[in-house]
Amino acid sequence: MSDAATDLVIHDSFSRTKRPFVPITPGHVGIYVCGPTVYSDTHLGHAKSYVSFDVVVRWLRFTGLRVRHVENITDVGHLVDNSDDGEDKLIRTARLSEVHPLELAEKYARLFFSDMDALGVVRPDISPRATGHILEQQALIRELLARGHAYEVNGSVYYSVASFPEYGRLSGRDTEEGEVGHRVAVRGEKRDPRDFALWKRAEGGHILRWESPWGSGFPGWHIECSAMSCRYLGESFDIHGGGLDNQFPHHECEIAQSRGAGHGFANTWMHNNLVTVEGRKMSKSLGNFTSITQALEKNEADLVRLWVLSTHYRSQVDYSVQGLDALKGALERLRAALRSVSEAVTAAATPAATTDAAFLAEVATAEAAFTAAMNDDFNTPLALGALFDLARVLNTGVARGGLSRAALETGRARFLALGGEVLGVLDAASAAPAGGDAARYVDLLIETRQRLKAAKAFDLADWLRKEIAARGVVLEDTASGPRWRFNA
Ligand SMILES: [Zn+2]
Repeated sequence: MSDAATDLVIHDSFSRTKRPFVPITPGHVGIYVCGPTVYSDTHLGHAKSYVSFDVVVRWLRFTGLRVRHVENITDVGHLVDNSDDGEDKLIRTARLSEVHPLELAEKYARLFFSDMDALGVVRPDISPRATGHILEQQALIRELLARGHAYEVNGSVYYSVASFPEYGRLSGRDTEEGEVGHRVAVRGEKRDPRDFALWKRAEGGHILRWESPWGSGFPGWHIECSAMSCRYLGESFDIHGGGLDNQFPHHECEIAQSRGAGHGFANTWMHNNLVTVEGRKMSKSLGNFTSITQALEKNEADLVRLWVLSTHYRSQVDYSVQGLDALKGALERLRAALRSVSEAVTAAATPAATTDAAFLAEVATAEAAFTAAMNDDFNTPLALGALFDLARVLNTGVARGGLSRAALETGRARFLALGGEVLGVLDAASAAPAGGDAARYVDLLIETRQRLKAAKAFDLADWLRKEIAARGVVLEDTASGPRWRFNA
């Protein structure tokens, strides 16, 4: 293996094999993930995709690689019909709500980012928009024309699929209708029904249009990703990610465009599987979607992430309210372990204890299992299993007692690194027994109760104790004074 080799193995959708991941530039990773078409609410299908790739990026960074994560915003050219017919999705929705298409794009792009922020998805390093990269797209189309991969008809430019024999290799399909080799009738301006638009002539009244060597028009949907990935990651880059539903035709077309222009393009293709509802794909067009905003009204973000990560990114995950509820206990077990070890750290003795070595070895074993799972094509269900093992190690260590503060702090730090920094399902604040604003007021109430008792106002002190308990605080009077915690 070369110097650039990592311990990571990734399933490449193009070769359909798991392969050791070797970055093009040692120590660096360029990753492009297809972003949203911003014309409607984001739903849990998007959560599956973007939380999965969030963890991919987090893990790459955690292992010490420097990552540039590029994820586009589609704000032009994504037509209602994949066969290059019908209206632009943005323009249609904007027309119906009587706003400019880019007002609509701005509204839904902001909503997308606020949903992703709420889900703890780390923002991409670059979020290029299709409308901001018209020149790059035109340059790529000129290159494809010069190389004989494209032809112009009446102010539109189409990709000639016959000129690129590899078309269909990624998805095993080359038409909307079926598998490679299937032929359908030629429609309209295309020479071959498989051909797709690189540039479309703008008809009268079309709002989003730009001048071009072929007249006034707008880019096809697929060309933006070829143009913008090249602009920010170079002609060859490490990983291209996206949803399985975009494998055909979108990614197939991206490959034809970029490789047709002589670029190496993506070394590794990663596809996340879909969210289903009772076995059917969750999608805007099927009307069976739960928006991320709706999901987060009822569930904590940590729980939604735990639900996504409980299934491997290449497997389908079925959505149900009961399915999410069933994970609440699991999330609480992680938080309880964090609370317990945090309290133990505060109370522990400082000198090293004889029991430390055994405890630290168990922590290391759980972390090694976690690392092995993540390095095996980002196997988050197995990694979560290792995280729960680590929670048990912490609980057992705390219950046994006698550990030094340093050992407990190490266990706590490793737990937060794996559960928080990598998977993003655990953080010190959401599990905190004390600290923060609420805790200061609880402290004040308990201090008030102590003063009432000292002043022999026992009725009032008892009343306050009940009121404190009714607000979810467990209060114990110990020899060294009152101790309290929030009821889990
Ligand atoms: Zn794309």
